[in-house]
Amino acid sequence: MKKRLQYFILCPGDRLLDIPCNVCGDRSSGKHYGIYSCDGCSGFFKRSIHRNRVYTCKAGGEMKGRCPVDKTHRNQCRACRLAKCFHANMNKDGKQHSYRSRYLQHGR
Ligand SMILES: [Zn+2]
Ligand SMILES: [Zn+2]
Repeated sequence: MKKRLQYFILCPGDRLLDIPCNVCGDRSSGKHYGIYSCDGCSGFFKRSIHRNRVYTCKAGGEMKGRCPVDKTHRNQCRACRLAKCFHANMNKDGKQHSYRSRYLQHGR
């Protein structure tokens, strides 16, 4: 019974890395669209890009476009979530910019 654990540990792959989603901070499931992201955000991004969705932020005043996008709030505003996807260098071509973006993150 204990042997099974070894397979988990030895099994290579991004899924075991404890890297947070660059968009919402939830645990990522590896690289999607060039950045580490969770299934929720990568799926959301995919749907948005695929259907050319344009979302509108419902917040008003100073908070417009600045909704919190984290594990608990990520579903509340799709406009801000998608904006954050782009801000985190998510791109529909996937791997192309992954190396660059990793360095660019430190430049700000
Ligand atoms: Zn996420
Ligand atoms: Zn918003």
